[in-house]
Amino acid sequence: MTGTLPSHAEIVVIGGGIIGCSTAYHLAKEHNADVVLIERGQLTCGSTFHAAGLVGQLRSSASITRLLKYSVELYDTLEAETGLATGWKRNGGLRLANNQERWTEIRRQATTARSFGLEMHLLTPAEAGALWPLMDVSDLVGAAFLPTDGQANPADITQSLAKGARMHGARLVQGVTVTGISVDEGRVTGVITDNGAIACDKVVNCGGQWAREIGAMAGVRVPLQSVKHQYIVSEPVVGVTPGLPTLRDPDRLVYFKEEVGGLVMGGYEPNPISWADDGVPEGFVFSLLDADWDHFEPMMEQALIRVPALATVGVRTMINGPEAFTPDGNFILGEAPEVRNFFVGAGFNAFGIAAAGGAGRALAAWVVDGEQPMDLWGVDIRRFSELHEDRAWVRARTLEAYGKHYTIAWPSEEYESGRRRLVSPLYERLKNNGACFGSKLGWERPNWFAPTSLPPTGVEPRDVYSFGRPNWFDAVGEEHRACRERVALFDQSSFAKFELRGRDAEKALSWICANDVARPAGALVYTQMLNSRGGIECDHTVGRLADDRFYIVTGTGFRTHDFAWIRQSIPNGSDASLVDVTEDWGTLALMGPNARAVLEKVSGDDVSNAGFPFATIREITIAGQRVRALRVTYVGELGWELHMPIEAAGEVYDALKSAGEPFGIADAGYRAIESLRLEKGYRAWGAEITPGDSPFEAGLGWAVKLRIKVPFIGREAAAAVAAAPLRKALACFTVDDPRIVLHGRETILRDGVGVGWLAGGGWGYTVGTNIGYGYVRRDGGVDRAYLESGSYELEVACERVPCRLHFGPLYDPGRKRILS
Ligand SMILES: Cc1cc2nc3c(=O)[nH]c(=O)nc-3n(C[C@H](O)[C@H](O)[C@H](O)COP(=O)(O)OP(=O)(O)OC[C@H]3O[C@@H](n4cnc5c(N)ncnc54)[C@H](O)[C@@H]3O)c2cc1C
Repeated sequence: MTGTLPSHAEIVVIGGGIIGCSTAYHLAKEHNADVVLIERGQLTCGSTFHAAGLVGQLRSSASITRLLKYSVELYDTLEAETGLATGWKRNGGLRLANNQERWTEIRRQATTARSFGLEMHLLTPAEAGALWPLMDVSDLVGAAFLPTDGQANPADITQSLAKGARMHGARLVQGVTVTGISVDEGRVTGVITDNGAIACDKVVNCGGQWAREIGAMAGVRVPLQSVKHQYIVSEPVVGVTPGLPTLRDPDRLVYFKEEVGGLVMGGYEPNPISWADDGVPEGFVFSLLDADWDHFEPMMEQALIRVPALATVGVRTMINGPEAFTPDGNFILGEAPEVRNFFVGAGFNAFGIAAAGGAGRALAAWVVDGEQPMDLWGVDIRRFSELHEDRAWVRARTLEAYGKHYTIAWPSEEYESGRRRLVSPLYERLKNNGACFGSKLGWERPNWFAPTSLPPTGVEPRDVYSFGRPNWFDAVGEEHRACRERVALFDQSSFAKFELRGRDAEKALSWICANDVARPAGALVYTQMLNSRGGIECDHTVGRLADDRFYIVTGTGFRTHDFAWIRQSIPNGSDASLVDVTEDWGTLALMGPNARAVLEKVSGDDVSNAGFPFATIREITIAGQRVRALRVTYVGELGWELHMPIEAAGEVYDALKSAGEPFGIADAGYRAIESLRLEKGYRAWGAEITPGDSPFEAGLGWAVKLRIKVPFIGREAAAAVAAAPLRKALACFTVDDPRIVLHGRETILRDGVGVGWLAGGGWGYTVGTNIGYGYVRRDGGVDRAYLESGSYELEVACERVPCRLHFGPLYDPGRKRILS
């Protein structure tokens, strides 16, 4: 053992890889926290010591890109701060396109980079060749260059972070293994090691590919899978210079970087090999796996085509190292939903060196404040569910995600593995009706319906992806029109549903919700739940079933997150218990101008506007089944969300379909919902509204109960935002040219200057235009006059296109249809 194991610490970090060291560094430096880091072997002995060390920054999320940008800023100064070399250099990064589709992706990425304030230049093949003279550019369509990307020596940079952590007071203990976590009443109380126990307030699990097992010690699921990852280091190559940029050639699945005059070359094979399926073997310290040349061969062939000079030199070594990968290719950060004060920072999918600076900093802030410091939904541990306890499922999905590392990331792309996991009782019916399903948190959900009646033989219910208009475009248009003009039925059974029950349910929910939910039984309220910074943590419909009972409905993917948020926010000692009833209830949304006529045919209950007004919840009978009906809409039409005991979903569906036949009822899916809700300007959590956005910035200030004097989480912060000039405001943009396709992240230009980016976008079939929503940002304040006085363009795949800015919904701004 090196270092002394104390009997108490405020925070224990487990794992001395780059993530643990960065977290300890930021906890000590930025929060002055009392930190002990425990490493079972020596620092870097896990995955860190054998990383290749490329540091790229661009991701598809603004926040994650921000973290990676911060890594680079930190690496720029770390050596000077600690006096320990890091091997860091900003030699830039090149990314190649070998075909037109990749070139489109790269042009879209360059726009994303600009949106996020990252320099990325498009190059001709010849320009790329000038930067990397050893490569054959004859098959290139183009390339992109990120001048601020770079590379580091992973072991050195970790030691430098460790030294920095010590300089700021953290204690690092090596040669001690954590063997257990003490938990009392759902909270961490300490850590047990092979050298004694430490009492502590908080634990941070930075255990790399061991993080799953460390999590299990506390009853916390950390869904990751070790996968073998290989690269070679060549003998020196004539022409390789220290300033050579890193090089990624995704179409050939390989990457390169300079190393002592030679080249590191590795890649992402489509058929990856998992490792340690039953747990990492004992004593795996500074260890590597046997070189697997046969598996590497196809990548070697590709690399030699790109860099023929590689054939003229020997291979100095091959590294086969395991690394923790996750089912969606993103890392795992944040407080575990199962246990309070147990945090995780793991599963870095072979970009842990690049991510460590920013991820460690964000995690440190999360640990200290108990809330994510910015929108980190893409990496939030609460994006997983019980499904992720299934190791075989996690393995299959993780291997698929690994195999997609360098494939083109198509808009709306779905995973194929681990499918048909959770289905609603309507699955077979919908499939027979031509449904093409997507998957969300294990649920199969109808994305669109292939019209079997179209000549000559109909359309196959299969996604064919494109950056332009995809094969489902027309079919979704038909569903959209059915909803606007007639009536459509959406199976939304995968909605997460909770009940809050107890004497104090109203009081607790009033404290947690930003809108006024203390209404009589039968009321239905749209509300946000805010964090202490006034950002939107959850976005819900809350129906009051009885004095002591509320029904809460939220999106499929937010089940774990929202449940954890609500449960943790219930004041101590309250008589209010939260129950997840998702699988008890099937959900059918009946939406469209004919919705009432259809409902009247199947129900004897009064569903008139007076008898069943908007924003109410009632029990009605359909086909002999008791149904919770919510008069609400996410598509902007008259309609009801019908929640029935899940076993009755088939009967209710059949009754509605047959009653709806004379009214032109149609099945419709999630892609139609997306188009419909964009026309109405309904916000989607995780897209236009996130924990980093205030309701006032999002145009949802009307749903915040500042006018009534009751305390609620985030009230002070929300009031402060409302009282000051807004630093950003959500705005709607349209582009009429149908040849343009908006996918999100396009740059918003005001008078030629970048002021934000689109959070999401799509086609509005009724309004006949592209629609995008994004925040316009300005430190001096964004008000209506400022918005109105600008002229706007969007940058789409590096091209500027004119657009129009709108206030209010594009469709039915007077809400006549939903209130009819
Ligand atoms: C071949 C290869 C190439 C790579 N190339 C790159 C690259 O070019 N760029 C990039 O950004 N990333 C790269 N990576 C990824 C990078 O190496 C990892 O993402 C990163 O090192 C993960 O760091 P970590 O701290 O999460 O994990 P680790 O470094 O594995 O640290 C976890 C630590 O926890 C310790 N530990 C485990 N259990 C216990 C316990 N019970 N008690 C105490 N301590 C415990 C372990 O000993 C280990 O030291 C590569 C990975 C591989 C395999």
